[in-house]
Amino acid sequence: MVAASGVTIVMDPIKLRRVPETARVFVSHAHSDHTRGFRHKGLKQSTVQTRDIHSALSAHRISNFAAIDLNRKVSIDGVEIRALNAGHMLGSAQFLVHTPATSILYTGDINCVDTLTTKAAEPHRCDVLVIEATYGSPIYRFPSRETIYAGVVEWAVEMTKQGCVPCLHVYAAGKAQEMVRLFNIYTHLPVVVNPRLDGVNEAYRKSGHSLNWLASNSADGREVLEKDPCVYITTPGDKRSIGRKAARAFATGWALSLRGRNAAFPLSSHADFEQLVSFIKACQPEEVYIFTGFADELRRTVKSELGLDARAVPTMNQRKLFEDY
Ligand SMILES: [Zn+2]
Repeated sequence: MVAASGVTIVMDPIKLRRVPETARVFVSHAHSDHTRGFRHKGLKQSTVQTRDIHSALSAHRISNFAAIDLNRKVSIDGVEIRALNAGHMLGSAQFLVHTPATSILYTGDINCVDTLTTKAAEPHRCDVLVIEATYGSPIYRFPSRETIYAGVVEWAVEMTKQGCVPCLHVYAAGKAQEMVRLFNIYTHLPVVVNPRLDGVNEAYRKSGHSLNWLASNSADGREVLEKDPCVYITTPGDKRSIGRKAARAFATGWALSLRGRNAAFPLSSHADFEQLVSFIKACQPEEVYIFTGFADELRRTVKSELGLDARAVPTMNQRKLFEDY
């Protein structure tokens, strides 16, 4: 929450109880642990894509909404807010706030490498940086995207050869669309998806992403899933049988610390430890506030290696692997 010149601006509130009705609420992206602010009574802002994906995943209809485009500024009584690409999923934004006294960058969730569906988040010079630390521990160093993509495709082709349907369990928004695109580009396998992904895929298509898929509740999707070689993309917690022999795998950054029977690929929509440290350094902040994940570990590194004034902020419950979006 930023209060300056009589203006109150709140980003990704978790609880609305203490948010004044006159406050302007900004929502960084459409994952459910960030969208509570859409229920605020006053004016809400996010990118159009964030609103569309939220609407595809939730029955909740947003009222009192104004879109904010990436790289555009909004001015509220002398406070300027700019939305910047966060690289985390379609429509995800960081917010750079300039008040007469200071500049504050709130990152939301960020990813600092290009993916098949997003461009890397870029750092911006600021006085105060508020940054996520989901994978802010040195144990999280992700292999290159290309290496992971190759591993996923190789695994899926091998499973298909063995007569199984490769089933990938991923978050419905962001990772699922990256997976659809991956199989569209590198294989000829038809991609069947859990119907929950359908509306999110449509939001990506509407924004110019070329995705080809069949929903498993459509006649075509059902037929392909019943008898053809294909890939099935579904949510993390979906345990339903697909009526055929399935080979299941997860794609998540947590794969680096998971032990289990299923395959797991370390494909993340978040920055890893080194990306986070480089990002913080490039922003040249005077103060750093770190939230979620390994906040304390990242804080120690930022203090010792970058010599910056860093604090861990007690915060939100982050989504767990088996939640669906
Ligand atoms: Zn997120």
